[in-house]
Amino acid sequence: MSIENTKIYPINTGWCESDLGTYMFFKGEPGKKVQIPVLCFYVDTGEHKIMVDTGLPDAERATKYHHSCQKKDCLDSPDELRKLGVEPDEIDICILTHLHWDHTHNMKKYRNARYIAHATEIRWAYNPLPLYYRSYESPMLGIEAPFIGCQFELAEGVAEIVPGVTVFPTPGHTPGHQSVQVETAVGNIVLCGDAVFRYRNMEPRPEEHWRYWVQQRFVSMIDGWQSMEEIDRRADFVLPGHDDAVMDHPVYPYEGMPLRERRKPVPGAPFYFTGI
Ligand SMILES: [Zn+2]
Repeated sequence: MSIENTKIYPINTGWCESDLGTYMFFKGEPGKKVQIPVLCFYVDTGEHKIMVDTGLPDAERATKYHHSCQKKDCLDSPDELRKLGVEPDEIDICILTHLHWDHTHNMKKYRNARYIAHATEIRWAYNPLPLYYRSYESPMLGIEAPFIGCQFELAEGVAEIVPGVTVFPTPGHTPGHQSVQVETAVGNIVLCGDAVFRYRNMEPRPEEHWRYWVQQRFVSMIDGWQSMEEIDRRADFVLPGHDDAVMDHPVYPYEGMPLRERRKPVPGAPFYFTGI
């Protein structure tokens, strides 16, 4: 095993319409819509073949129960994986950042995989707050969520899944959200799931003195902000869950990839938590 060989391949499973004010940015422009990709990732360590999230269902189901969605030229994650020359049966681990509908469809197609999610997330997914019936595809809607019947291994904190691949809690978007830190030849790449929707969320908003222009879609703003600081501390490069710029490169790390400065102070836009 060598982290020299570790590669991360982004997979786009389709496009959903999202609101800049109620989803993408805290105090963003309400009513303004953008098309966002719904990403998942294939991580090849040389020894293990890992999926981080498994993406969207078909456009009809997505649009009926959730947001207006188009697949365009995107396929479901198992077929996108085949385009990379990998069969779903070869996947030995599926790590779920959280159990929302757009991150879990088709997970059962990876039938030889160990499924790993945070214990807190599983509890909320099976018994969601009514406001989140749609997000977790509750039986109240008359449908079956993609994770029903899967036997999970529970993550409850920071855990090394295989050498060089570590999960760590990043609650906020959901109560049991986790992110995945992948060691590579150039540094730590953090797969953020929905702890970070867009690259812009990690950047300051100087006119408001915010170190991050965080998203609007948090069950807890306080946890969500703290998770941003934790990602900032760990990541030499971040891969958000819904940013089109991720698809500019077919594989990470790539030649000449610019690394970020971890937890870089920005004058006039302070961190909130200490000791991170
Ligand atoms: Zn999402």
